Amino acid sequence: MLPDIDKLLELQLADQEIRKLRDEVAALPRRVAVIEQKLAGTKAHLEKVRAAAKSDEANRKKFEATIKDLQGKISKYRDQSLDVKTNEQYKALLHEIQFAEEEIRLNEDLILEVMVNVEAREKEVKATEAELKAETAEVEKEKEDARKVTAEDQKKLAEWNAKRDALRQEISEDLLRHYERVAKFRGSGLAEVRGQKCMGCQVMLRPQTYNEVTLGEKVMVCEACQRIYYYNPANEVKPEQEVITVTGRKRARPKADAPQAWFYRPDYGEEGEVLLAYINNGGSSTRRIYEMHTGRQIGDVLGREGTYRLAFPEDLTDSALRLNGHWDEKEIDEWGSEVPSNVLDLLHKDLLAIRREHRATHKDHSSSPAEQSAAS
Ligand SMILES: [Zn+2]
Repeated sequence: MLPDIDKLLELQLADQEIRKLRDEVAALPRRVAVIEQKLAGTKAHLEKVRAAAKSDEANRKKFEATIKDLQGKISKYRDQSLDVKTNEQYKALLHEIQFAEEEIRLNEDLILEVMVNVEAREKEVKATEAELKAETAEVEKEKEDARKVTAEDQKKLAEWNAKRDALRQEISEDLLRHYERVAKFRGSGLAEVRGQKCMGCQVMLRPQTYNEVTLGEKVMVCEACQRIYYYNPANEVKPEQEVITVTGRKRARPKADAPQAWFYRPDYGEEGEVLLAYINNGGSSTRRIYEMHTGRQIGDVLGREGTYRLAFPEDLTDSALRLNGHWDEKEIDEWGSEVPSNVLDLLHKDLLAIRREHRATHKDHSSSPAEQSAAS
């Protein structure tokens, strides 16, 4: 890949990280605000419940005072009844007393009602107070978390910004300007070419353009969406079905009888793209599987009787591509669970060479452009 394109990919990653971090920083105060709003709601509810409890208390006192008044009146009527001269007057006083007694009973009922209310009210106040306490603690924790995350994000942002600035210095000015202009309008300035298609706008590339892109010798821009193309053979959607039979002028051909053999498989079960390493050892062989892009080992080393071609026939399907590669078994063991990046690079490059060769042979054999595009 061209160094400028490599840098642009790094720059794109930096831009994405910076955007993500900024969004996160901006989202945190909003999250805190939502909880604070909830907290304010609970506080208001508590105020209301407390106020209601207070007015209950006031009512109870009022009813009690009324009863006291009425009792005072009754004893006054009783005193007066001792001095009455007529039956009429006596009856009237008796009537007043009865009326006051009824009023007392009414107020006593009201007090009872308030007392029942008070119990429910107290429970509600206690529950709301507990809720408020929990929510306050939650808000404090959220704020503390937000402070921590924001501080971390700011630190990361500073690092990414520095990285971004450094990268921008290393990319040619015109290309950078183009990248930034397209990124501004389209959200991304780069587009991968995969399966002869621009992954940015899904437009098919002409065969000639596609060939040039895969050769990676100059910077190319999508005519439709203006994004800058990049091409990674490892991500190619349509792996060539060519096997070991490729004869190349430039690419060294792995020896068929070598005691160690590396293969690429684009379709290895659930793992998808993998690298397979076989080592023959006397009458037996071993197999190691690595993830194509990260180089991480998948599963353990598997040993079987017989040389690898006999021992692992199920692996060597038509889609398996034989790669150049030989490392000491001791060295391979020292890699541990991951193929070192320089080794991974060599294997990736060899796969790229196979595909280039395949395309070259392909082109030689096709007689017309129509036939060529139909076959590819
Ligand atoms: Zn495009």
